[in-house]
Amino acid sequence: MTITADIIIHNSHILRPDGLGWREDVDALAVAKGKIVALGRDADMMAWRGPATETIDLAGGFLTPGLVDGHAHPIQGHDLQIGVDLAEVRDVTQLRAALAQEAASLRPGDWLQGHGLDPALLEGVGHPADLLEVVSGGRPVFLMFFDYHGAMVSRAALAKAGIAGPRSFASGAQILCDVDGLPTGTLLETEAVELIRSVLPRMDQATRLASMRRLFSSMAAAGLTGMHVMDANGDSLDCLAALEAQAPSPLRFHVLPWVNPGATRDELEAVLALQGRAGRLWRVCGAKFFIDGTIDAGTAWLHEPDLHGGCTGPHWPSPEAYSKAVHFFGKRGVQTVTHAIGDKAVRHVLETLASLPQPIRAAARHRVEHIETLPDEDIGQFAALDVLPSMQPSHAVRYASADQSDAWSQRLGPERAARGWRTADIAATGVRLVLGSDWPIAPYDPREILTCAVARRLPGHAASTAVGDAQVLSRAMALAGLTRHAAYAVEEETRLGALTLGFDADLTGFTVDPLRADVDELGMAPFGVTVCNGLVTHRRVN
Ligand SMILES: [Zn+2]
Repeated sequence: MTITADIIIHNSHILRPDGLGWREDVDALAVAKGKIVALGRDADMMAWRGPATETIDLAGGFLTPGLVDGHAHPIQGHDLQIGVDLAEVRDVTQLRAALAQEAASLRPGDWLQGHGLDPALLEGVGHPADLLEVVSGGRPVFLMFFDYHGAMVSRAALAKAGIAGPRSFASGAQILCDVDGLPTGTLLETEAVELIRSVLPRMDQATRLASMRRLFSSMAAAGLTGMHVMDANGDSLDCLAALEAQAPSPLRFHVLPWVNPGATRDELEAVLALQGRAGRLWRVCGAKFFIDGTIDAGTAWLHEPDLHGGCTGPHWPSPEAYSKAVHFFGKRGVQTVTHAIGDKAVRHVLETLASLPQPIRAAARHRVEHIETLPDEDIGQFAALDVLPSMQPSHAVRYASADQSDAWSQRLGPERAARGWRTADIAATGVRLVLGSDWPIAPYDPREILTCAVARRLPGHAASTAVGDAQVLSRAMALAGLTRHAAYAVEEETRLGALTLGFDADLTGFTVDPLRADVDELGMAPFGVTVCNGLVTHRRVN
C-alpha cells in the first residue's frame, strides 16, 4: 500500500445509515487526502498507519457524519452581531440600563449598536427614536430585532441616513411614521434596515476576516462541519474566497443567494449567473426566496389575518410574480428555497412548485423553509410533490411557549398556534426533513437543535413544559436532519452525509451516544473531535 492515513479515529462507535435508522458495526475509521479510506475494527487500521498518521482515541465516543446546519447566515450574522447583546433584556427599564452602560463605553459621536432586541418591549412607546436619542445622549443608535426583520434607530441615526419620512419599497419594507409623516424610529424588513446599515462605520477587512474565522472555528467546536448559507448578501462570496486563500475553511458552505421580492429579469439573471461559483469548500447552488416575513412582525402571510389584523399578504408585489420567478429557476434546473412561515405562504409555494411539470420539478430539489404553522391538508403535500421541508425546532421552543402566552401564539390564536412547527407530522409522511437554526435568529449549536427536535425544550431545562410535545422527532430522524438529509438537500448525498468508504471526511465525534443518551446530556456534552474535509477543526482539550 502506497498511501497512509492522515488520521485514524478508533475506540469509537461509528454510526452508519441503515434504512431510516443507524447501525454501529465498526469502531475505527481512516482518513487520507480528505476521504474516508477505511472502516472497520482497530486491527484493520494497522495497514493504514504511517509515520505522519495522527491517531485519535475517541474514548468510546460516537462518530457521526459531520453535523450540518441546514439554514444559517454565518457571514451576515457575523456582521450583524455587533454591539450590545439585548437578547436577555425583558423590559424598557433593563433596555435603558443596557444602552446607558454601552453608551458609557463609547467615544463621543460613536454609533451605539445592538442586536437581539424584542420589539414588543417598545410597543407602548410612540417614538422609539426619541427614547433612544435620550438614553444614548444624542448618539446615532442602531438596534436590530432578534428576528432580524427590523430595527429601531435614534433620531441621529435617521438623520445620518437621510430618512425624514415614509418611502415605498417593492418588498413591502416600511419606515414607520406617525400621522404627521415623522419617522418613529422603527424600520421593518431588509430594504428599510439597509438604509441605516449602509451608513454604519465599517470594520477593516483583515480584522473582519479574522473575526469570521474565529466564529467558524467556534462553530466547528460545537460539532458543525457545514452550513447551508441562506444568503450571499454583500461581499459574502468574496469573504469566503478570501478566507480560503489564507487557510483551509473550518466549515463547508453551500450558498443560496437571495432573489429579492419583485426581482426584475436582470436580477434573476444575476442570481442565475452566480450558480456554480465555488471555492474548495464552498459552492453557490440555488436561489433563496422570501414569500413572507414573520408572524411576530405581522408580516407573515396567513389564510386569515392574525388577531391584530396583520399577516395578510405576501412579500412579493404579487403572488404571480413570485411564481414566475420560481419557474425561471425551476426550468433551468436550479434549486429554489423559499422562506414561507404563514400557512398561506406555504400553500402558495407548494402550489407554485406543483404548477411546474413533474419532470422539470424533479430536476432540482426544491425546498420550503420554516413552515411555522400548517393545517392538516398541507402536511402530505411535501411528500406528494417531492419538495423538501426545512425547519428550526429551536424556534418552536424559544419563540413560542406551551401555555401560548408568547407574542407568536397571541398573534395566531390558539388553533393556529397549536399547529406550530409540525416536525413529527411532516416527517411521518416519509419526506427528508432538514433541520437548522437560522443563526443568528437562534443559536447555531446543533446540540440545541437536536434537543429541541427530540424533546421540544431547551437542554438543561428539564422542568420546563415541552412546546407541542406531539411533534417530537425520533433521535434517528433528528440526526438524519442534520446529516444525510442535509446532504441530500444540496445534491451531495453521494459524497457527504454518511460515513461510507470514499466519502468526504466530514466527521463529528460525540462524547455521548446521540441515539440513547439522556436528553440533557446530549444537549450539553462537549464534542471529542470535529473533522472537515479530512482536517481536524476541533479537538477536545482534556
Ligand atoms: Zn434565514
